[in-house]
Amino acid sequence: MTALSASVRVFVRDPYDTGQKKQAALVKQLRAVVSTVVPVNVMHQKIVVIDERTVLLGSLNSLSQSRSREVMLTIHGGHFARRILTHEHAEDFARPPRCGACQLDEVDLRRRKNGDWRWRCYNRACPARKGSRGWETPVRFTARHRT
Ligand SMILES: [Zn+2]
Repeated sequence: MTALSASVRVFVRDPYDTGQKKQAALVKQLRAVVSTVVPVNVMHQKIVVIDERTVLLGSLNSLSQSRSREVMLTIHGGHFARRILTHEHAEDFARPPRCGACQLDEVDLRRRKNGDWRWRCYNRACPARKGSRGWETPVRFTARHRT
């Protein structure tokens, strides 16, 4: 698993998502074996991209499926795989910054109503926290595509 983990990036729901609170221990285990685990606020996509060649797309929660009836479609082809990665900002979203105030990596990704993407510290003890508002910084996009 160690050799593989360098190229595995997992985007999960942020830790204060109602369904995700119960999964905190599992996310911790995931962080132990995967180099990049990025919490995302209000995320619902179910997408797996393997080696920029194979895309699994559908309604199935690939890491937590149990009994519900879901679908997952496999699409082979590098062009489509790279388009999905670009569309989902996979490169830029895989590099969360440390919080500028508390310096911890308890930073999640969220989107404002106006469409702007922000990194936000969710550490409740962060010195920059004012009520429900935490330290924030805009996501810097390096790729051309910006939707
Ligand atoms: Zn902080």
